[in-house]
Amino acid sequence: AKQLGRDLVCEYSTDDMRRMEDRRMLGIRLRHAMQHDELHLVYQPEIRSSDRAVIGFEALLRWNSPEMGLVMPERFIPVAEGLGLMPELGGWVLDHACAQSRAWMDAGLGDFFVAVNVSAQQIQRGNFAEQVAETLRRHGLPADRLELELTESALLENVDRALHSMQQLSALGVHLSFDDFGTGYSSLSYLRQFHVDKLKIDKSFVCDIPRDASSVAIAHTVVAIGHQLHMTVIAEGVETAEQAQLLIEMGCDALQGYLFSRPMKGPAVAEWLADYQV
Ligand code: C2E
Ligand code: CA
Ligand code: CA
Ligand code: CA
Repeated sequence: AKQLGRDLVCEYSTDDMRRMEDRRMLGIRLRHAMQHDELHLVYQPEIRSSDRAVIGFEALLRWNSPEMGLVMPERFIPVAEGLGLMPELGGWVLDHACAQSRAWMDAGLGDFFVAVNVSAQQIQRGNFAEQVAETLRRHGLPADRLELELTESALLENVDRALHSMQQLSALGVHLSFDDFGTGYSSLSYLRQFHVDKLKIDKSFVCDIPRDASSVAIAHTVVAIGHQLHMTVIAEGVETAEQAQLLIEMGCDALQGYLFSRPMKGPAVAEWLADYQV
């Protein structure tokens, strides 16, 4: 609304109108998508620096829409959040990621965790840890095979509630990590309050390494802070061997990015692992 006065005058520009119409449409289609099998997860490996072993996979959501083709999460997750669909959508993601993780375990593929992105509407719910526990139980998945990725904005929406959920999740044995680290406003102060196992250096810094000196400095600093606080540090968005080498020299414990693999569908993972040369 350009102006919301005493007599509730709303003035929208035609651009605003179109954007709202787009979102409304997207919302309707998304509700449909959740019930009609149009969503799937893709998985991207996380690689340990010391021996290049695969330690886990991050689950990333995709929407294959009959009308729109492949829709990326950056387009539809904000819409889902706006419509309050994230508890449901996030529950779907958690369930499918745990099922996949259990299938890898049963296939004897290795000791991997699956990392799941969690949005504010999930972590802020009083029963989130309970939902996670129930999902683990249902799939017979050990808690340490699940990692939950949290962002600063999700935690800061209500710090007390987030802390409560995180304590319960830690007690279950689920690993917690901070996603997009360094992109927020209060990163350093909230690190002290929230006990997590892992920091993820955002790809917006990684992509400017080594060209941009301040990105290099930030990556360096994040590694140092993470280690000081006994966390492991991973860099995402690693695309070149040069970036990988520099990040490893900085002490980064793990790497993730197109250099190793694009995100892939669950069944493709076994084949990729068989071809993967350490
Ligand atoms: P994110 O959690 O920071 O995920 C990393 C993004 O970087 C992913 O984009 C991934 O495909 C992309 N990426 C990985 N390696 C590289 C690389 O080497 N270079 C570049 N340029 N990009 C790389 P994606 O899959 O489009 O996801 C975008 C964002 O959408 C995610 O950012 C996350 O915030 C959100 N998202 C995805 N799936 C879920 C989900 O299931 N739940 C929630 N709440 N959010 C999700
Ligand atoms: Ca993530
Ligand atoms: Ca990120
Ligand atoms: Ca992100």
